[in-house]
Amino acid sequence: MKICGLQKTTLLDFPGKVAATVFLSGCNFRCPFCHNTDLVMGSAEELMTTEELLVFLRKRRGVLEGVCITGGEPTLQPEALEELAARIKALGYEIKLDTNGYRPKVLKNMCEKKLADYVAMDIKTGRDHYPLASGKTDIFIENITESIGYLMSGTIPYEFRTTVVRGLHNAEDFEDIAQWIGGCQRYFLQGFVDSGNVLKSGFSAFKRAELEVFLKIVQKTIPQAEIRGVDY
Ligand code: SF4
Repeated sequence: MKICGLQKTTLLDFPGKVAATVFLSGCNFRCPFCHNTDLVMGSAEELMTTEELLVFLRKRRGVLEGVCITGGEPTLQPEALEELAARIKALGYEIKLDTNGYRPKVLKNMCEKKLADYVAMDIKTGRDHYPLASGKTDIFIENITESIGYLMSGTIPYEFRTTVVRGLHNAEDFEDIAQWIGGCQRYFLQGFVDSGNVLKSGFSAFKRAELEVFLKIVQKTIPQAEIRGVDY
């Protein structure tokens, strides 16, 4: 397990908590709009060892309340993830796990062992367009459905979120998402931001008014769905 990034403080990533965010290397998807290219391709340098991370977290007890574990895709190395999460929890922190939901058994295991306190799972797009939006042409969509079903069974607080990208998403996708995750706890539409380091260039963001059209579609089955982080 390679720790390639650390955001020392965030008020945004872990709902209701002051947190740090740890970035792990590697991913089983190749979402063309991904802006963590170096992490996904495994070319990012290791920033620190697990021991060094734990030293940092030990010092920040009383200031930070939670740790977000993100990627890349954290579930790729289940045993290392479990050990990392257990050691962070032993310091008194709560854990938020970010995932693309493609490894439902790892997700369940983390939740059932109480090694995650909150899960944020990506819904890349509607089911028919998943190969395109995930960059995984041989995708087995049942894995995503299984993770959705598990989270919606209510074991743990969670959110679903979709980064909405012009050229990848259309109204039909949100009609399908509304069917797929209807009745879920929380769902956010997030605007795409071109950081200049995306896997495939040429994508752009929808305007706020266009996102609101998609929002209205999903609000038919998820009335509390929101647009997040779009201030344009
Ligand atoms: S956006 Fe896609 S490719 Fe990038 S880290 Fe997330 S799941 Fe992996």
